[in-house]
Amino acid sequence: MRDDTSEPVPEGASVPTEALAVENFVDGDFKPSASGRRLDLVNPATGEIIGSIPRSDAADAERAVDCAAHAAQEWRKSTAAQRASALRFFADRIAANAKTFAWHETQDTGKPLWLSSALDIPRAEANFRFFADLLSADQTEASVQESAVNYTLRDPLGTVALITPWNLPLYLLSWKIAPALAMGNTVVAKPSELTPQTATLLCHAARDAELQGLLPVGTIQVVHGYGAEAGEPLCTSSRIAALSFTGGTQTGARVAALAAPTFKKLSLELGGKNATIVFSDRIMGSEDLRRETVGQVLRAAFLNAGQICLCGSRILIEKCAMPTFLREAENQIKDWTAGDPLDSQTRMGPVVSAPHRDKLLGAREAARKEGADLLEAPIAASAPARGFFVPATLITGLPHTSALVQSELFGPIVTVHPFEDENAALELAHQSRYGLAASIWTSDIQRALRLSAALDVGMVWVNTWLYRDLRAPFGGNRESGVGREGGLRSFDFYSNAKNICLATEVSRSHLTQGRVP
Ligand code: NDP
Repeated sequence: MRDDTSEPVPEGASVPTEALAVENFVDGDFKPSASGRRLDLVNPATGEIIGSIPRSDAADAERAVDCAAHAAQEWRKSTAAQRASALRFFADRIAANAKTFAWHETQDTGKPLWLSSALDIPRAEANFRFFADLLSADQTEASVQESAVNYTLRDPLGTVALITPWNLPLYLLSWKIAPALAMGNTVVAKPSELTPQTATLLCHAARDAELQGLLPVGTIQVVHGYGAEAGEPLCTSSRIAALSFTGGTQTGARVAALAAPTFKKLSLELGGKNATIVFSDRIMGSEDLRRETVGQVLRAAFLNAGQICLCGSRILIEKCAMPTFLREAENQIKDWTAGDPLDSQTRMGPVVSAPHRDKLLGAREAARKEGADLLEAPIAASAPARGFFVPATLITGLPHTSALVQSELFGPIVTVHPFEDENAALELAHQSRYGLAASIWTSDIQRALRLSAALDVGMVWVNTWLYRDLRAPFGGNRESGVGREGGLRSFDFYSNAKNICLATEVSRSHLTQGRVP
């Protein structure tokens, strides 16, 4: 599936003026934190406080783990067909309320409403439907020995914890919840405290599923609050059998260290500093191809204000094509004018928070001080004055060793670097501690195949970007993470393989040829 193909939202769309009431969802009910403490919820497009969320701590996390562990006894007995029905219930609920989900996702993240409507919410629906279908089609592995038959079962783990970031809130939460439930586990989720609303809508659906008997009460628990207070108890809990974490590399290292003593299964999807490698044949040939290529390279840089782990934040260009690339980029960058996410013409909204905006604006200033050139899009005059806007920025002239090039900025600020030839491109691409993804833009398919094979990353796109097949492995190398999710790999992660060896009194040749001795 191509993840964001649609264009601006239907006219007349409006956003609910109020945020949802956000509470923890524990034991089938919405509850405040045990301490009663709360955190403000801020709309990044306006800078206004729009609500509040529970500031949960270890007491809330432990209560959620208790309830989830209890529900796990029941849910593990469910049949595959029952689990698939429950997943389809969530998919149908999201599809039927897609506008509401999209509105709240936009309110929390500041991403344009067209993007929530075209990417986040359809993908969340697709995640549930995909894993329901995969479960229905799943087959047992079997092998035949001389006097035995082996078959492998996927056993539920029990209760798993899911810790997710703010950039793709429901998209990433559903990517984990769906296979976890499919394998017969119960879950305790801790979403980012910045983006709690679509998780809350999902909990409303979970409550209805429980009332209809599709899920035992307590199958899904959600605790809100800071990672250090509500997330860490999940990492250290000996009753959590697996932890799937998506977030920054530094946080991932802390989470892994906390989880290690309990030997829980761990999946870490971490940061990236992905190379977009562009060869001259895509720039110096036809005008249409140049326009298309530069458009796609900018999309890979600036979609979701550059806040996607897969964004191409290091653009590597074959040296002879650099001036032409930059001229075309200058024409097109204004398409990424930052503006009000509710305006149907806005392609890019604000970034998620005031501290994140300040960090990004600081990076631009640091680049200027290092003597770099900045090519930037404006901020729309109509953008709300107190929103957290950062101009889409292409930086040239920085050495590849600069801290700004090496660190993950996770915003609409990308650097551009020339390379002489294919080997030099590969060398530059590898000058990073991350290894999540890369994209290659060339009409020379042999070159694309050579480079794809040589790149030390988890995912390579050739002449496309963010085109996802949910059956394919997803994950990164080195500081971009550990493990792969996606398709059957998700089922492997959220289950324990159990092999059963059944001795037979007939030999393999008789088994396979159907002869009775
Ligand atoms: P963070 O690492 O700050 O946070 C991720 C989640 O972890 C949040 O829910 C956060 O809670 C929680 N958390 C923070 N500290 C702890 C802790 N000590 N123990 C347990 N949980 C904790 O990442 P961001 O939310 O800022 O997201 C951006 C990052 O996510 C980027 O680095 C990006 O590359 C990465 N990412 C990776 C993806 C991948 O698939 N490889 C996909 C998407 C994003 P809270 O913030 O609420 O305190």
